[in-house]
Amino acid sequence: MCTFVSEACNKFDFIIEDRFSDFKVTITVNKDATLHKCDCGSHLNCCHHSAAALIKTSEILEEKRE
Ligand SMILES: [Zn+2]
Repeated sequence: MCTFVSEACNKFDFIIEDRFSDFKVTITVNKDATLHKCDCGSHLNCCHHSAAALIKTSEILEEKRE
């Protein structure tokens, strides 16, 4: 479950509902790179919370383009 919370400039905030708790993910879209930050503390380069948020972000950007 991925909920879009807010957008400020190029920053997108999401709340990802996992089985045990909720995690906050921030996606920052820059010209040359997209950064993601999740507070689950995973040492993976991209945990599945970030992955879900990245997919959602691209959907939002896609809608804006139309
Ligand atoms: Zn995470």
